[in-house]
Amino acid sequence: EPIAFAQLISEVIESFELIVTQKDIRLVQNMDEESIIYGDRDRLEQVIRNLLDNAIRYTPANKQISIALTTDHGWSELIIADEGIGIPEKDLKAVKERFYRVNKARTRNSGGTGLGLAIVSQIINKHDGVFELYSKVGQGTSAKIRIKTI
Ligand code: ATP
Ligand code: MG
Repeated sequence: EPIAFAQLISEVIESFELIVTQKDIRLVQNMDEESIIYGDRDRLEQVIRNLLDNAIRYTPANKQISIALTTDHGWSELIIADEGIGIPEKDLKAVKERFYRVNKARTRNSGGTGLGLAIVSQIINKHDGVFELYSKVGQGTSAKIRIKTI
């Protein structure tokens, strides 16, 4: 089904509003409203939810998360960039696997199962898209997904 991507992203952001406010995180949005993609709405909502959940969970108070949606040459690109704890280079590939979590001590207080990114990977693959993670420890993480625009 055709999906107004910016609108879907905004809906997910709204559902995180309370926790974002409570955690004193600043959300910055820059959304291209023209982006229409084709896919499974519920699954793509889950992708955004999982990525945003991570960005919020692994980012301390008073930091910023930026959400940018752009369209270019037939592709829509969503980047969710946080200023959180980051992911060590050696773990960057593995975090997309099921049940992999960086350093149990570090993540102990932020309950999770280690499935979020594996699910993102799987759903984006099914949509013939691209999912990439960039990160620097102590500086932050950027999750980028690209899906063909209709
Ligand atoms: P859940 O199944 O609830 O999502 P999870 O968040 O631990 O649990 P993933 O979302 O798959 O699982 O993430 C895997 C691991 O990658 C996390 O445990 C965390 O160590 C690391 N990680 C993911 N996103 C970020 C981020 N934005 N900043 C820092 N570390 C991250
Ligand atoms: Mg997660």
